[in-house]
Amino acid sequence: MYPFKRFSDQPELARPTIMPDLLVVTAVSLIGTLALHRFDWFEAVYAFTRPYESHEIDNLLIIVAFIAVGATVISIRRSREVRREYEQRLKAEGHMETLALTDALTGLANRRHLYGALKRRLGAGSTEGSGFAVCIFDLDRFKPINDVHGHLVGDRLLQQIAQRAQAHLRSGDLLARLGGDEFALIINNSSADEDMSGFAERFISSLSEPFHVDQLVCHVGASMGIAFGQGGASQTPDGLLQKADLALYRAKTEGRGTFRFYHDAMDAKVHERTLIELELRNAVERGQIRPYFQPLVCLRDGRIEGYEILARWIHPTMGLVSPDRFITIAEEAGLIGEISLSLLDQACEQARSWPKGTYLSLNISPVQFRDPQLSTKICHILDKAGFSAECLEIEITENALVHDVEVARNTLMALKARGMTLALDDFGTGYSSLQHLRSLPFDKLKIDQSFVMNMSESAESRKLVKAIIAMSHSLGLKTTAEGIETHAHALRLTQMGCETGQGYLFGRPAPQACQTLAEVSGAA
Ligand code: C2E
Ligand code: MG
Ligand code: MG
Repeated sequence: MYPFKRFSDQPELARPTIMPDLLVVTAVSLIGTLALHRFDWFEAVYAFTRPYESHEIDNLLIIVAFIAVGATVISIRRSREVRREYEQRLKAEGHMETLALTDALTGLANRRHLYGALKRRLGAGSTEGSGFAVCIFDLDRFKPINDVHGHLVGDRLLQQIAQRAQAHLRSGDLLARLGGDEFALIINNSSADEDMSGFAERFISSLSEPFHVDQLVCHVGASMGIAFGQGGASQTPDGLLQKADLALYRAKTEGRGTFRFYHDAMDAKVHERTLIELELRNAVERGQIRPYFQPLVCLRDGRIEGYEILARWIHPTMGLVSPDRFITIAEEAGLIGEISLSLLDQACEQARSWPKGTYLSLNISPVQFRDPQLSTKICHILDKAGFSAECLEIEITENALVHDVEVARNTLMALKARGMTLALDDFGTGYSSLQHLRSLPFDKLKIDQSFVMNMSESAESRKLVKAIIAMSHSLGLKTTAEGIETHAHALRLTQMGCETGQGYLFGRPAPQACQTLAEVSGAA
């Protein structure tokens, strides 16, 4: 558990003491005195030295006696010094031990300490059957604060969070910082969901209260995953933390600012996800990820202007896998960049035979914005295929802007500078602000299909669609309506001034692009 061999654990370095030395000296003196007395050695020595008086043997003996006393005093003092040294070392060791088990920033227990505490609670020596909860929580919205206001503010905020979280602990509970904005708790005597629900609610709501760091008011929140452990059960600290982590992942994907308990079904989901991730790693190489094309139609005259490239995984056993099942995994596994470029490459190959001016629309994930070489890589593919950058539209979702606007801005500017068109996808479902629309170089808004599909039943949706089109025009942007399935919707959107339409009415995504609307309608 400790990163070093402890001084006090080494038997050969057992605590030194002067007691044995003193005992030996005392015993030798006593025995000597008794022997002198018993055998009249003084007389014997005296008698022995008389004939050799010239050799000063008596003086020699006195000197020897002095040396013996001096050596005894020195050895006692040395023993004391060694003992002092030993105690200082023990103290330093204690300090090192504390450092090795403490998080330097917050003073809380660290991961190593947490492991030790879990091991003890789970171990055979622990109170049999005593239940406890392990909670992992991390902060929502911490990264933007750290990025915008700097690490010093981030550090102070973490210290305050540690203090506030500690106020919820009872004696014997443990709070640890695992790293970054991730923390863990061990709560004793809790073995069921009911025991922990109230605690988790209070805990999360207290962390969502504002924090004051210098002059700043910071609003963060927390998401929490909870798993239960039991003394003497066949669990490991790693296994338990993994379960709490899975539950945390679920809490974060289901809305943040909330908590979830671990259930066995989560393991099955993770197993499936791991399998998909493993297979996905080779899928591009094996040519299994293919572009499907869905037409983008000019609503005024029904002409096909271009095609959106939609990813499909042609899996040897699962068949046609839709992007909903693998795009997020590809993003998390760092594979989306490769997939996206491979799709563009294959699409450009098909586009060689298309009428001039037909454009392609490519979906780009938020994570791809972090690649500073993105525009260069895209242009390399376009140049190779002889496909004009002016005929490539890049679709990004609103969430890409929320993650890191500055990074998104730089990438968008670079793409725009190469001549590409930029479209904001699924507009109305994310968190982009009008400020984003004004300050980023978009050319087009794609109205999310949920609004379009509800137009027949919901007057609100009709009003919203009309307002989005009007706003888009006033900002100098064009609009595409997604999810058009009926003639009535197409007509209404045309009357509202929407330029482009996309939907099953015109054609479903297909492996080959169809060139005329007649062909398209036939396919649909
Ligand atoms: P999206 O970019 O908004 O694409 C439109 C989605 O709506 C497509 O789903 C399309 O098949 C579906 N759709 C189009 N018209 C209709 C309609 O009339 N009715 C209905 N019900 N649906 C319609 P798909 O192909 O399953 O793609 C889902 C999402 O996956 C895409 O939404 C996009 O966000 C993502 N995606 C697909 N391919 C890629 C890719 O290569 N890269 C990235 N990053 N994301 C991709
Ligand atoms: Mg799209
Ligand atoms: Mg869309």
